Amino acid sequence: MASLPSTMKGVIIEKTGGTEVLQYKTDLPIPTPKEGQVLVHNEFVGVNYIDTYFRTGLYPAPSFPYILGRDGCGVVQKAGGGETYGLKDGDKVIWMAEGAYAEYTAAPAAKAVKVPDGMDSKMGAAAILQGLTALTLIREAHHVNKGDWVLVHAAAGGTGLWLCQLLKAVGANIIGTASTQEKVDLAKKAGATHMINYSQDDVKSKVMELTKEQGCIAIFDGVGKSTFDLSLECVARKGSMVSFGNASGSPAPVTIARLTAKNARLMRPTLFNYIATREEFDHYSKELFDFILKDKLDVRIHEVYPLSQVARAHQDLEGRKTTGKLMLDPSK
Ligand code: NDP
Repeated sequence: MASLPSTMKGVIIEKTGGTEVLQYKTDLPIPTPKEGQVLVHNEFVGVNYIDTYFRTGLYPAPSFPYILGRDGCGVVQKAGGGETYGLKDGDKVIWMAEGAYAEYTAAPAAKAVKVPDGMDSKMGAAAILQGLTALTLIREAHHVNKGDWVLVHAAAGGTGLWLCQLLKAVGANIIGTASTQEKVDLAKKAGATHMINYSQDDVKSKVMELTKEQGCIAIFDGVGKSTFDLSLECVARKGSMVSFGNASGSPAPVTIARLTAKNARLMRPTLFNYIATREEFDHYSKELFDFILKDKLDVRIHEVYPLSQVARAHQDLEGRKTTGKLMLDPSK
């Protein structure tokens, strides 16, 4: 490999707050890979809603300065020793790790995979975190079967579009929600059987009408605070309410007795606990890539922003202006 430069471009936060705390730097130290890590020269990195939680302080950063971001793709520059699962210098990889908003990331080899044949690395990077989230939600949080009625909030968002495509592939009846007609059309194209524009229509009465008053056997709710009660009202008897995010804020504390009305299950899963082992990561990433390549799933990228414009990316995401995945080009 060519010798490494002495510094890199990256975005750090030194405190929590609005987008003004995102600091674009051109002189950050390049991380040194530890045992079990590979140093990756990033081509593209992702923006996910979780990055905004660390920026605002909803989730605590482990220390400051902190580099946000969770996923990306690039070329392995060097391995840090120990178990690196056969990855070597020059391999093109898709990875998940902290410290993504930068030109170089030291990623755990256990969460890095070579770009599969036939897949564009940018597409793979755009798919990995949100696609695996959707896949593990419908396999493990609530195993969805053919013919099941399910409700997906924010169906035209990054994770929502993956849920629509994967749920369609398993043959579910998908009811999605979105705030605009453009988003409604997009989620329908991705596979939603029915869409509710919640700016115009009442979600609960539509869900009850469509399901003949039964409700949905699984609710996938990444919106959080503003939809939690509605979601519990839409769950079917013996169904699952899967609360997996906080785009509108964290749901209020809930008393367990509220579940008795439907004998419902309440889940609060996180992707990283479904892919904690290398075997789990391999299993689900292979299944996701197979879906993408064989079923020709659409990897929708909203925009690739220059890294220096990361504040605009956060504003667009939090302002509900985006559909699909947001990415950053760390070279700009
Ligand atoms: P999205 O692209 O889905 O963006 C969020 C969407 O949520 C918006 O576009 C908007 O769609 C909807 N929304 C509703 N209310 C609000 C609000 N008050 N503020 C902002 N957005 C709102 O983001 P992601 O795909 O990155 O993430 C979606 C959710 O999934 C997040 O909660 C995220 O934390 C969660 N997640 C959880 C994971 C886990 O492991 N548990 C992993 C990955 C994501 P509309 O305009 O149609 O309402």
